[in-house]
Order: sequence, then structure tokens, then C-alpha cells
Amino acid sequence: MSVDPNTPVLRNCIRLPLPEDELIEVTAKAKDYAIMHGAAMRSKSNFSEDSLNFAPFVLVPSSFPRKEFEKAVALQPIINRLMHNVAHDEEFITTTLAETIKVDEFTANLFNIYRKVLAHGFTQANSIGLLRSDYLGHVYEGCAIKQVEINTVASSFGGIATHLVQLQNFVLRELGHADKLPNMPHNNALAGLCDGMVKAWDIYAKPQSVILFIIEDVSYNICDQRFHEFYIRETYPHIKVLRRTLTDVHREGKLGLNKELLLSGGLEVAVIYFRAGYEPGHYHSQDEWDARYLMETSLAIKCPSIQYHLAGTKKVQQALAQPAVLERFINDPEEMKAVGKIFTGLYSLDDNEAGNASYEMALRTPEKFVLKPQREGGGNNVYGVDIPDALKRMSRVERSAWILMDLIHPPLTKGYMVRPGAEMPPTIVDMVSELGIFGVVIGDADHIIHNYQAGHMLRTKLSTANEGGVAAGLGALDSPYLI
Ligand code: ADP
Ligand code: MG
Ligand code: MG
Repeated sequence: MSVDPNTPVLRNCIRLPLPEDELIEVTAKAKDYAIMHGAAMRSKSNFSEDSLNFAPFVLVPSSFPRKEFEKAVALQPIINRLMHNVAHDEEFITTTLAETIKVDEFTANLFNIYRKVLAHGFTQANSIGLLRSDYLGHVYEGCAIKQVEINTVASSFGGIATHLVQLQNFVLRELGHADKLPNMPHNNALAGLCDGMVKAWDIYAKPQSVILFIIEDVSYNICDQRFHEFYIRETYPHIKVLRRTLTDVHREGKLGLNKELLLSGGLEVAVIYFRAGYEPGHYHSQDEWDARYLMETSLAIKCPSIQYHLAGTKKVQQALAQPAVLERFINDPEEMKAVGKIFTGLYSLDDNEAGNASYEMALRTPEKFVLKPQREGGGNNVYGVDIPDALKRMSRVERSAWILMDLIHPPLTKGYMVRPGAEMPPTIVDMVSELGIFGVVIGDADHIIHNYQAGHMLRTKLSTANEGGVAAGLGALDSPYLI
């Protein structure tokens, strides 16, 4: 992606470049600090269950406008409530996804589970959402934050982010800048998210019941997941945490007399935390879909329940960005205005008049847009000049599986990205940062029992990269330095 040469650069936290000797020394220390404190992942290229690489990170925290950070934090409970209301609006979810599920098989499979659950009634009325609302600052509006997306399933990095602040605090102190630490906001993401799961466990109210993490066949982001598990085990030792794949659940899961989810040995599951199941590759066969359905019909409290999962689709996000639709879910005019402001232009590509108009617009000025399918986990979008070809390859109905979104133009920062196997010392690069704010919401269709903001994370990528997947290699973990 080309970056507008006039893009503003945010002022750095400290003066760069660092003298080379100092840079080499502090980077080496920071790498070891990262591994020793679990800011780490399993290597994809050199995989072993017995070793870890440090996760790519930014050496010195990237600047983020304080006002915008505080705005995002303050908005989170409102966004939690919004998503909770959306998840429980059967009519809205059904009509919004109607065209999409005709052509998107994965969303259709999720929707079929939803439909079947609706037909039989929900066994468990409560859901828990561990959400992450992601933002980029937009330079054409004074760096005001714009929502990139909201995640309702497997919102990751709460665990590592909490430790990354410590890493960058350490680096700043080593560099003689302890005075800067007050500008690094405290991050309670790990505790906030895990306490949420435990609150759901409390609601289930059976002392012997366990929390089940649904995991991928291979977990590269193992530290992030284990931090959650270990936090729960250490803070609430009476609550057991199990890890199972969808395939495992198919093999050993069954329902008890009251539809309790039981695993082998008769262990009863109170809460299911999905860290897998958000992409087609996690379902190898009908077995995994059957396991998902089994869990959905069980008494366990799901994070996310199927309606929450569907509420997090890009299609729903696009529909919500229309003021008339947002009004349906937010009563307070001030809140409505505040949420409306974080949305950027989102356009339907359904096979109708509005969808055709967005299609024509995308062909005319593709450089203004990003094209998104109903997928999670990064690497699925189409950007700018690549959009017309992608769209032309689709039939009119196939387009309904996608949405179009205005490209957000974030400000730049300059800094050192440190990644495993990369040349030492790192060089200064142009970067952009995406802020994620975590939220916890628990309740049923009529009542919200818990609703709070729970920490944050910052992911920073090279300014020239379309996406900054940390595992994919273009992104790095970071934390905001508020300016
Ligand atoms: P996913 O659910 O796969 O993470 P996202 O909507 O978050 O999908 O898109 C992935 C990445 O693409 C984001 O992290 C961001 O870097 C980039 N991106 C997405 N939407 C926009 C946008 N409107 N403007 C600029 N970059 C975007
Ligand atoms: Mg996502
Ligand atoms: Mg994303």
C-alpha cells in the first residue's frame, strides 16, 4: 500500500535514533525480557512444542493521542451494550445476514446452528462476550479514531498485551526515561477478561464445574492463551480449566439429563471460551460442526454464543453503521452521536440497488476502499487497486458475501520493530498503530448483569503493509504512549 507523503507523523516518546551501541544492548535485553515474561509465541517456520520465540514487538512504545484513547475506553461499555442488544435481536440478525448466507457457506453454517437453536429454544439464556473493538486514527479528521471492526470471538492478545507494557516500561527505564512511564496507561486486560469468565462460572453456580477453552489443533499464540488459563488457575484455584479442540469435543462431549455439557470422566462444563471455531479451517469435517452444535445446545455459558458470533460479522457491522439502524439499538441521543462518529463509511454489496451503487463506486475509485469478506483472523481483505479485479470475478449474488469500507488513513509513528530472526540492530521504520479496547458483557436477552471495559492492546505494522498480523510477520505488539 502506498502512503500519502503528507501523512502526519506523531511525535515520538523519546528522541530517536538511539546510539548504535545502546540500541544493540537494549534490544538484546528486551528480547530476553520478552521470552522470559511470555511476550512470546510458537514459531510457525520452526515449530516445536518445546520452545518459544519472542513475539514481534516495538522497542519503544508508539505514540497514540490521549484524547482518542480515552474516548475509546469511555465508549466501550456503550459498545458492549450495543453488541449485546444486536446479538439478541433475532429479526435484525436474520434480515441482515439473509443475502450473505446464500453465498457464504461458512456464515451459513453458523447461521444454521443459530436457526436450529432458535427453533428449539435456548438452553442457556446467558451469554458472555469478551469483545475487542479495534480502531485506527484517521488523519483527515484530526486523528479521530475510526472503528476498524469489532471482534466477538477469540479476541486475542489480552494476555500478552498486559505483559508488553512491562517490557516497554523496562526498556524506557533502561534508556533513562523513567519519567515517561506515567504516560503508559495501566493495562488490566488479562485480569478483566479472566474475571469475566469467572463471573460467568459464578452464574452457572456449580462448584465442581469447569471452564473449557476450545483451541486450534496447533496453538501458535500459546502464551496469550496460557496466560488466561494460568491467571484463572492461580487466582481461583478451585476452578479447573480444560483445553480441547472441536474434534476432541466431538469425540468425548455429550449432554447430561439437563443438557449439561459433559466431557470424559463426567466433568461438567460451566463456561466455554472459544479460541478456535472462527474460521472454516477449524472445521475439518461435519464432526466439528456437530461439536459446535452440541455445545451451543448445552447448558454451558458460551463465549461467544452463536448469536454473539453472528453479531460480530462484518456484514452486521456494515448494517449498524447506518444511523437509522443504530437508533434501533441505542436510545440515548448523546451515546448514539458518539458511537456514530467512530464509524467510517461502510457499504453493502448485496444484489440490490444500494449494493449495485456501491459496486459502481468501488470500480470508479477503488483506492478509497477496502473490501472485506465474513472472515476473522486477518489476511482476508482486498485493498484499493486490487478491488475491481476481485469484484469482477464475482457474480452479482456472490458479492453479498462481502462488504465495502472506506479506507482509514492513520498517522505515522517512527520506531524500531524487533522480530525473531531479523537483522540486528533494527532500523527505524515508518509504522501505524491499531488500538484494541477489550470489553466484557454478560447477561441474557432482558438483562445485562456485568458490563465493563477491560484493558487494551496496540498492534503496530509497517506503514506500507495492508495488514499487521503479528503471527503473519508484518505486525508487532506494542502499547500506547499517550501524547
Ligand atoms: P480481521 O477480522 O480479519 O482482523 P479486519 O477488519 O480487522 O479483519 O481487517 C484486518 C486488518 O486490515 C486491520 O487490522 C487493518 O490493519 C486493516 N484494515 C481493515 N479495515 C481497514 C480500513 N477501513 N482502513 C484501513 N485499514 C483497514
Ligand atoms: Mg476480526
Ligand atoms: Mg482485525
